Amino acid sequence: MFRLFKFTKPYTPMIIFVLIFVFLQTLGDLYLPTLMSDIINKGVMQGDNGKIVQIGGFMLLVAGGGALCAIIASYLSSKVAVGLGTILRSKVFERVESYSLHEVDKFGTATLITRSTNDINQVQMVLIMILRMMISAPMMAIGGIIMALREDKSLTWVLAIAIPVLAGVIALIASRMIPLFRRIQGKIDRINLVLREKLVGIRVIRAFNTVEHEAKRFEEANVDLTENYIKVNKIMAFMMPCIMLVMNFTSLAVLWFGGIFISKGSMDLGALSAFTQYAMQIMFSMLMLSLMFIMVPRAQAAAVRINEVLETLPGITDNENIKNTFSMKGFVEFKGVTFTYQGAEQPALRDISFSAQPGEVTAIIGSTGSGKSTLINLIPRFYDVDSGNILIDGVDVREMSQETLRAKIGFVPQKAVLFSGTISENIRFGNTQVSDDDIRHAADVAQATEFIETVDGGFEHEIAQGGTNVSGGQKQRLSIARALVRKPEVYVFDDSFSALDFKTDARLRAALKHEIAEATVIIVAQRVGTVRDADRIIVLNEGKISGIGTHKELLETNQVYQEIVSSQLSEEEIA
Ligand code: ADP
Ligand code: MG
Repeated sequence: MFRLFKFTKPYTPMIIFVLIFVFLQTLGDLYLPTLMSDIINKGVMQGDNGKIVQIGGFMLLVAGGGALCAIIASYLSSKVAVGLGTILRSKVFERVESYSLHEVDKFGTATLITRSTNDINQVQMVLIMILRMMISAPMMAIGGIIMALREDKSLTWVLAIAIPVLAGVIALIASRMIPLFRRIQGKIDRINLVLREKLVGIRVIRAFNTVEHEAKRFEEANVDLTENYIKVNKIMAFMMPCIMLVMNFTSLAVLWFGGIFISKGSMDLGALSAFTQYAMQIMFSMLMLSLMFIMVPRAQAAAVRINEVLETLPGITDNENIKNTFSMKGFVEFKGVTFTYQGAEQPALRDISFSAQPGEVTAIIGSTGSGKSTLINLIPRFYDVDSGNILIDGVDVREMSQETLRAKIGFVPQKAVLFSGTISENIRFGNTQVSDDDIRHAADVAQATEFIETVDGGFEHEIAQGGTNVSGGQKQRLSIARALVRKPEVYVFDDSFSALDFKTDARLRAALKHEIAEATVIIVAQRVGTVRDADRIIVLNEGKISGIGTHKELLETNQVYQEIVSSQLSEEEIA
């Protein structure tokens, strides 16, 4: 956790002020019982009203000053802690954004969310506590003992018994509480995971009537967390009366024996009053210290999780000497590429070699799971290859900056993703520089204008989070328009026509052909109709290339392709 505190550097002056004000406040607190003793001895016992007013006034001043210091310290320490939270959140966010898909897969979404919200809150809370108590608790404990002994030594033995007893009680309770606190974070992760899955998959859950199953899953995670909290609170509930008992017995002992000493004349009333208060201060500060010992491990567990995120380096980073000059435009070449997903036994792609040129359409066809999406995810470097090279414009994708690389590519993913915002904002996402006319034109080419005009507000129609208020085919068309406004060198369509009816599919491809005649186009498809006009068709089978050629060539030579074709087209269509 202390490694995280290094991020409070910009707040160093504020922290120093907090410590100073806490110091002053504690000093005042320690002084008050002595003043009290003076008032009793010099004022009340002597019947000297002037003295009472004089010392009383001074006490008011000390108490007021103390309160002021406490307010300032509290304000500043909150500011520091919230500042640390802000810095940590943005660091975590930055780091997660730099992750390649490998690291995101490794952590999982739920825990990344808990880590950047709840865990950071824990650290923030405990920082406030540390700032406020780090100085005041030990100072109060030690100062209290010294001041108490200065007042009177005959009652020392009461403290000598009470302090170890209290320490024992606290140690016993803390040892039970700490493991419970450590477990809470993982349980919150679990709730988050179940809840997220439930919300994202709500349609499927309802359609498959698994509402009860999901409710049970959530219930289990929830009850698990609740039980943990109940255990914690049971211990807390037990702790308070125990500690109060020890404290009250201590006051009782001090008053009882103090009373005896007073009646014998060996102690004065003021000293007794001060001693009682110091005893309370000492015990109270021990309580604070123990609370810190309980809270710190919990925040520690959170800090470890935050550090994990911060210390996991992105698997894909820019090369040190990046090449950003290119002699060609729009050339894509795979040279003997093999790729394995982390944790998978078999490579998802094996020895893939082909090239695609500007002005040509390269289509990739193959059954589901044959590795089509994997192949094209390698082009924008979402993952790095195990061996072989992917060249764009003659340069290996690992040798150019990711920004340059991705600027060359208009990517339409298999699962169309839209963001909350208007339709035109979603299209503009591809290129912030474009005019409204460009957006209209892109929508035209993507065959989206027709439906955009029928919805409320047209281009200003609000898309819901995750694009749930448009159909699958409409989503696909909008994400095609988004790639079009980018005017990239290379277009990559991952099964982007699958949710379109045949007529729209044909119209869209005809419009595209005209629009992006100059660019390099790579299309992944399942339907023979979508690929048959392509200049080059690559047939993928179980991660390997089974054949490359035109529709006609493959139809004659390639068995895998023949099977795909015969399963989709009738005899006459093939002929
Ligand atoms: P296609 O797009 O041709 O349907 P994919 O490229 O999506 O197929 O998948 C190819 C193979 O890689 C499949 O066996 C799939 O299980 C596996 N795969 C896909 N994505 C991942 C991933 N993120 N982690 C591990 N394995 C994956
Ligand atoms: Mg796919």
